[in-house]
Amino acid sequence: MELKTDFSLKAFNTFRVEAVAARYVRFDAENEIADFLGRNLLDGKRRLVLGGGSNLLFVDDFDGIVLHPLLKGIHMVKAARQHLRVRAMAGENWDDLVAFAVANGWGGIENLSLIPGSVGASVVQNIGAYGVEVKAVIDRVEAISIDDRKKVFFTPKDCGFDYRSSNFKGTWAGRFIITAVVFKLSRQPEFVLDYPGVKAVVEDLGSINLETIRQTIISIRQSKLPDPEQVGNGGSFFKNPVIDGNAIDRLLNGYPDLPHYPQGDDQFKLAAGWMIEHCGLKGKRAGKAAVHDKQALVMVNLGGATGREILELSEQVKGAVHDRFGIKLEREVLVVPSPGRISSLAAQPG
Ligand SMILES: Cc1cc2nc3c(=O)[nH]c(=O)nc-3n(C[C@H](O)[C@H](O)[C@H](O)COP(=O)(O)OP(=O)(O)OC[C@H]3O[C@@H](n4cnc5c(N)ncnc54)[C@H](O)[C@@H]3O)c2cc1C
Repeated sequence: MELKTDFSLKAFNTFRVEAVAARYVRFDAENEIADFLGRNLLDGKRRLVLGGGSNLLFVDDFDGIVLHPLLKGIHMVKAARQHLRVRAMAGENWDDLVAFAVANGWGGIENLSLIPGSVGASVVQNIGAYGVEVKAVIDRVEAISIDDRKKVFFTPKDCGFDYRSSNFKGTWAGRFIITAVVFKLSRQPEFVLDYPGVKAVVEDLGSINLETIRQTIISIRQSKLPDPEQVGNGGSFFKNPVIDGNAIDRLLNGYPDLPHYPQGDDQFKLAAGWMIEHCGLKGKRAGKAAVHDKQALVMVNLGGATGREILELSEQVKGAVHDRFGIKLEREVLVVPSPGRISSLAAQPG
């Protein structure tokens, strides 16, 4: 365990913006978490559980305690003919887990290759990409309750998974430190190749298997998304909005080309990036903050932008999309501290 004061979080967020945590504590073992919580240092203080910082935008210094579980380890816990259960500690890098599963011939998460961040946080936002969401392979989530130090186990049903969301991001935010996740992977996986463009690229590689699917996803992602090592970003800044059949009919009257994807139950997912682009905002800059010039759904730090500058530009984007399409974009990235707590940004909730 390592406890620090006035700790810079710049290297711990993929936007690479500066923010100082009043206190920061790093955990390398599960028992350190319970020990630390037992010291009552959190009383009355704000807390933030940090993973890889790839879904966070710091818009100010953090006046509470950052809790950083860096627990490591991946083990097979149960094997049967069709499925096996793999327990990964929360601080493992997500893509290392995917690489490990693919190398062993265990299917289920190959479409989620190269998503940045930690195993623990994969649950928090129910990560998803290329037609797969992590909720499909979660068997059990292990956590420590911050208030009473108790170890708790959650089934997928308990977690309330939804599109880029779960109870850990919603009603339970700030209550638990996820310590490990048990995944149910398959020895005879059914490949998910129906996402536009994926199947053709996999077939070009010769045969369809876990390895070629992983390679395909990695190459598609690298061609579309900026690498946080090169340019600071947090992936998709906004969620793709989901609207009902009446609303889509109204929009299609004005925008017949509007991409929309049926989700069942008369629900349709829209492409937020398309709408931002059609507002003429792709590549828009405000100082060192910008809308990415190749993928309009991504806000970037061109070098030296503050979190506030990025947030303010994102609010302009949100306003423009609302004015043009009547759609209120919702952030996928978590803003810390929440904008409501900062007086100059108080008019920009949610
Ligand atoms: C280039 C890029 C591409 C991306 N592509 C995708 C994508 O395709 N699909 C997708 O879904 N996401 C994507 N993301 C978003 C991001 O990678 C995921 O949300 C990821 O799961 C965040 O992991 P993290 O460890 O960095 O979490 P952080 O950003 O550190 O934290 C995110 C949230 O999880 C909480 N948290 C973190 N660890 C724990 C824990 N152990 N216990 C309890 N709470 C915890 C935090 O408090 C916070 O609320 C992308 C991001 C980038 C930068």
